[in-house]
Amino acid sequence: MLELVKTKMKPCGKPDRKSRLHVSLSTESENRICPKPEWNADDKVWDVWKKKQIAAQKEVIESCILPLFGEGVKANFSQKAGCLCGCSPGFILTGHTGQDIWIDLK
Ligand SMILES: [Zn+2]
Repeated sequence: MLELVKTKMKPCGKPDRKSRLHVSLSTESENRICPKPEWNADDKVWDVWKKKQIAAQKEVIESCILPLFGEGVKANFSQKAGCLCGCSPGFILTGHTGQDIWIDLK
């Protein structure tokens, strides 16, 4: 189970845009959720690993962050949450706008 260490939130400059939430997580914590596959592992192995990481992150977001924003706010993972090229994955919030949020988990 992951623990929330730090949160930071600031306006993104576009008040109508769905808020983005980015997670920072140490390799050690990632390995606790599910050991990281070898770099040359099969795509399916990586998919399972990633799925487990996202589920664990989402659990913390749903229990610790979303309740602060009130009823009905949801977080959905997107590889392209922060950038259209996919370099900045994160969660897109539905029902909450205008903010960039960063959380550190361990
Ligand atoms: Zn990018």
